[in-house]
Amino acid sequence: MSKILAEGTTEVDDPPFWPQNSPDWTPRCSYRAATVCSNGHPQDALRTSRPSGDLGRCGQCGEDILANCQQCGIRIRGIGWGAAVAGEVYTPPEFCDECGAPHPWAGREALVGRLQTLLKKQSATSEELRRISADLDRLRDPGVGEHDQIKIVERVRRTVPGLIRTGTPILQAVLTSEAKRKLGLP
Ligand SMILES: [Zn+2]
Ligand SMILES: [Zn+2]
Repeated sequence: MSKILAEGTTEVDDPPFWPQNSPDWTPRCSYRAATVCSNGHPQDALRTSRPSGDLGRCGQCGEDILANCQQCGIRIRGIGWGAAVAGEVYTPPEFCDECGAPHPWAGREALVGRLQTLLKKQSATSEELRRISADLDRLRDPGVGEHDQIKIVERVRRTVPGLIRTGTPILQAVLTSEAKRKLGLP
């Protein structure tokens, strides 16, 4: 992550900016690149090149402006080429279209929804899946206590360990830092 934040300086490696299937922006590529503040306010959704240096702060909320997925370093998906032509309003995506990690502004509903989708790919009995699904639904409430967060994730770990593997970037965004520490999640 520090590598990505330090983009524009010379002493760090350059992570790829465009997804591998679109090595650079051309009119035929479906999406341009965007800069978005960490609260999700779009700044520029029509970029055709990698921005460099300090991108400044958001005029609406004062937060830092991001140009990359904080997980994999790929550009944030900007406006679709066709949508730009049609003059459609741009809404920043909640998840990275390259690695699937949530962007910092992803809402709780979207995050839990993603966990539910990942759960469907796990193998367990239908009764186990139903119970875990109900557990995950409880995480939709931002007020769910730390103790409950830990119990839910421990049950996930015992029942569908694969979900911890694929769902860690999502759980990181949903759980409190104290719950993450006690669970030993990065
Ligand atoms: Zn903002
Ligand atoms: Zn990514």
